[in-house]
Amino acid sequence: MPVDLRYSDADETFRKDLRAWLAEAVPAHGAPPPRNDWDARREWDSGWQRKLFDAGYAGVQWPKEYGGRGASLTEELVYYEETARAQAPYIGMNFVGIRHGGPTLIAEGTELQKQAHLPRILRGEEIWCQGFSEPQAGSDLAALKTAAVRDGDHYVLNGQKIWTSFAQKADYCEMLVRTDPDAKHRGISWLIMPMDLPGIEIRPLPTLLGETDFSEMFVEDVRVPVENLVGAENDGWRVTNVTLRFERGTAWAADIIELQRMLRDMATLAKHVTHDGASAWDDKALRREIGHLSAEVESLWAMVKLQISELAKTGVPGLGGSAIKLGFTELNQRIYELATQLLGRAGMSRSDVGELPGGLGSGRIVEKYLNTLSLTIAAGSSQIQRNIISERILGMPREPR
Ligand SMILES: Cc1cc2nc3c(=O)[nH]c(=O)nc-3n(C[C@H](O)[C@H](O)[C@H](O)COP(=O)(O)OP(=O)(O)OC[C@H]3O[C@@H](n4cnc5c(N)ncnc54)[C@H](O)[C@@H]3O)c2cc1C
Repeated sequence: MPVDLRYSDADETFRKDLRAWLAEAVPAHGAPPPRNDWDARREWDSGWQRKLFDAGYAGVQWPKEYGGRGASLTEELVYYEETARAQAPYIGMNFVGIRHGGPTLIAEGTELQKQAHLPRILRGEEIWCQGFSEPQAGSDLAALKTAAVRDGDHYVLNGQKIWTSFAQKADYCEMLVRTDPDAKHRGISWLIMPMDLPGIEIRPLPTLLGETDFSEMFVEDVRVPVENLVGAENDGWRVTNVTLRFERGTAWAADIIELQRMLRDMATLAKHVTHDGASAWDDKALRREIGHLSAEVESLWAMVKLQISELAKTGVPGLGGSAIKLGFTELNQRIYELATQLLGRAGMSRSDVGELPGGLGSGRIVEKYLNTLSLTIAAGSSQIQRNIISERILGMPREPR
């Protein structure tokens, strides 16, 4: 039985209040700091999170006892629509804690773990990172080797992680470790690792854009208290799948709405750009493409609603998250590719050629386009999502192991 996701009068009142609050709060928060000024970025991202919290808009769907709003599913959808509409700051560095670390604790954590971390995440006081991938364990994540050996009340960790986003500023890490070297999937545990423990070394990695959003992370004799285990020892693969379902499913909701706005801005832009003396908007092929893309974004949004409805029934998003992740990241790439084509030569430069109609800066579009390339890899590559969809949703034969 699907959940009723039609908006009620109460939802529309919530929308009106939120819209009024955003109209003042967003401009007051100012412009984002330079991408490689990490202290300023943390302050800006967390400052916005704190404002959301103080106004009662943080963790819209998280339980009230942990600082959330405890609101309905439809209010959560309204929240995504309105924050995208107001171009509110992106959650940025708070991504892991808010989109999948916190939700994993809500589903799987102990009472103590929930009380210790959830309110702090919502207040912007705790930044989390994700220590899943290793040099030989990306798509085949269960091949991870970072060892955790029990020593009294602690696990002693040794090994290496890679592509750890925001590691240099994180306070905690959702850390996957091997607690049974003789097993594969059944020898993994999910730990909350404080990032200030001795023995953790972070080496930032520059991206294609020259930024250092992610790092290599080395752990040498790092002692993590056993009470930081989420789920049982060696049951971490099951917990990991809970994390990944949040990461692949509901985590992109706001970004999908943002795409719809981007398409509207592109239509505005096309009316101002000329190609060979003619308005770009006169090009039927372009108009058709924008129309098709818009319809695809709408269908993705419908899938997000389905996903949120499943979350309401089971506490965890379903496997459909893989289809959303695949659809969103590939669509995102197509939309920004079209935007760079529309800009012509300006679409090849990272320097802004000035404010463009529709509020788009040309340099920002190129940056976003380059960034979309990495999104089809992050959180499990497109090929891996296709494998999951074919094997676990469509029931097709499994690939040979
Ligand atoms: C922007 C960004 C941020 C990231 N942030 C984090 C983070 O914070 N924490 C973290 O732990 N990780 C993070 N990652 C890592 C990400 O999860 C991995 O890059 C991803 O899982 C792929 O692993 P890999 O890079 O080792 O590629 P590989 O697994 O080596 O894959 C290489 C290629 O082979 C393909 N391939 C592999 N296996 C199969 C198969 N069975 N069938 C078909 N094709 C296959 C893949 O699709 C890919 O094209 C991030 C990555 C990016 C791009």
